[in-house]
Amino acid sequence: MKRLLITIDGPGGAGKTTVSRKVAQRLGYTYVDTGALYRAVALAVLRGRCSAEDDDKLVEVCKCLAFEFKDTARGFVLFMNGVDISGEIRTQQITMLASALSARPVVRQYLLDVQRRMAKDGGVVFEGRDMGTVVFPEADVKLFLYADHDARALRRYKELVANDQMVSLEEVSETIKRRDYDDSNRVLAPLKPARDAIRIDSTFLGIEEVVDLVFRHIGDSL
Ligand code: C5P
Repeated sequence: MKRLLITIDGPGGAGKTTVSRKVAQRLGYTYVDTGALYRAVALAVLRGRCSAEDDDKLVEVCKCLAFEFKDTARGFVLFMNGVDISGEIRTQQITMLASALSARPVVRQYLLDVQRRMAKDGGVVFEGRDMGTVVFPEADVKLFLYADHDARALRRYKELVANDQMVSLEEVSETIKRRDYDDSNRVLAPLKPARDAIRIDSTFLGIEEVVDLVFRHIGDSL
């Protein structure tokens, strides 16, 4: 059977991560969370105490990084330079820094190459913002998953609370609004559906319903 390259783009809180993981698991594919890559670069920048506006320093920091998504008992987990950093990249500070860094051309170019190398053997589900538009315009299946702002804010809030983070719904709602605006309005690789992407509105759908819809579309390409 053909090993497809599948892209799932969309704003935060639309259910991309859960859906992408389930789709990859059912197909026996690798799952690549590209937001985690931007977050990992943010962690390295924070640790290196480097300015998010100093391109030379950013290039230097990126040069020292090696990434791998390993299939663990907890599913696919990102390792940076051999260390599991999945726990450290989910803070609000990293979230905002990752968003700021994602507007820097040197960071996007670096991660573009990293992502394309990860795709070379096919059989991968890539989750992100610009997978179908910029990184893999030739992907076999392109999906764009979205939902109303309030539904996304509530989902994200519940996730953070379940992970023992002290946040209010208003705070999460504001962060989502700001990130949506920044991600959609940046000059480079803004968040938007590819012209040929299949759009799925998850506002009133459960995860399994979305996964079923996705498989209906993938079925034609397998
Ligand atoms: O998906 P996640 O919230 O982990 O992504 C963190 C940040 O990384 C996003 O706000 C976005 O700015 C950036 N990002 C991006 N392109 C991607 C994935 C994430 O610009 N493909």
